[in-house]
Amino acid sequence: MMEPMSVHPPLGHGEVLQGLWDAARSDRLPHALILRGPEGVGKYHAARWLALGLLCDAGPGEPCLTCGPCRRVQADSHPDLFLVDPRAAGQDRMTIHFIVTRENRPKSAYSGPSIENFLRLRADEGGWRIVCLRDVDSMNVNAQNAFLKALEEPGKNTLLLLTSARPDALLETIQSRTVSVDFARLTQSDTLRILERDADMPGLEEPSEREMLARWSLGAPGKAIKLAESGGVPMRALIVDLVAGRLVPEEAGPAFWELDGEFPGKTPAAQRRTRASALMDLALEWLLDGRRHAARVPLEDLAHGGVLDQLTEISAGELESCMDCLLQARQDVSLNLSPEILTERVLRALADLSGRSSAATRRP
Ligand SMILES: [Zn+2]
Repeated sequence: MMEPMSVHPPLGHGEVLQGLWDAARSDRLPHALILRGPEGVGKYHAARWLALGLLCDAGPGEPCLTCGPCRRVQADSHPDLFLVDPRAAGQDRMTIHFIVTRENRPKSAYSGPSIENFLRLRADEGGWRIVCLRDVDSMNVNAQNAFLKALEEPGKNTLLLLTSARPDALLETIQSRTVSVDFARLTQSDTLRILERDADMPGLEEPSEREMLARWSLGAPGKAIKLAESGGVPMRALIVDLVAGRLVPEEAGPAFWELDGEFPGKTPAAQRRTRASALMDLALEWLLDGRRHAARVPLEDLAHGGVLDQLTEISAGELESCMDCLLQARQDVSLNLSPEILTERVLRALADLSGRSSAATRRP
């Protein structure tokens, strides 16, 4: 199912988009762009908005939102716009089946139209033919090689709009055939404005919750929303409480497995692995911020800047060994070892920091 398109222009990226529409007006727009920038800053929304402004009857420029093409794009029924969004199609990555149509494919694979199908057709409305691809770094080498063909032989008036937070994961041959456009983090106030639109969402209802998440996401509203949905807030509170000694691992374990939150995975076992990995990633991120703070990075530049007090008494060596333990567990969980046992190990390692922290405070 397609995500309905937001009716709001992408906040914080207006100038970049205007520059691209100007380029299109003077026939200087490259046929393949890669919109890159941190996760959650609105790259994919911007790609769709850019397409909207190119297909608009009054375009290229800020879309009017009322003409026929604008309405068709918003209803996801414009014949010259093709959206490749694996997440919306229920897939966890951009497999080769999104790129080319194969007769033989696994039952669980994506089975909708492919880029190859779409590009074979002529422009229905006589203008641009646009493909928006979300998170292209989720393609494996096979899919990337198949995609290269589309990049090498673009049809007339074809525009490929790629988005990625990790463009370095792409083949050199893809990187060299696309023009990069950088998308920056949003200001705190733009981030808050976007979060206010979702103020009916659990976890975003209170202004203090929105402010906390705007800070945590460092100007990436998409990430803030994901954190609210995936139980990031109570999970971080649990980690902090463990290290503060307010919670023991025996209590933290059951509380952790009962936390509300969506953890992707096709089977319950896979979902438990995703949940365990989320805990490990979050704890690692927090400890890393503790280390950055010790290295005098200003608190306002750190995602977890508001909750680092518990780490200031812990020595660099203790932090290191806890992080080693977490990294090892993170690796083991991807090797399919029991997420329950690994989680227990991680919770203990975090609680051990608490013992050391209080011992350190007791010293004169
Ligand atoms: Zn229009």
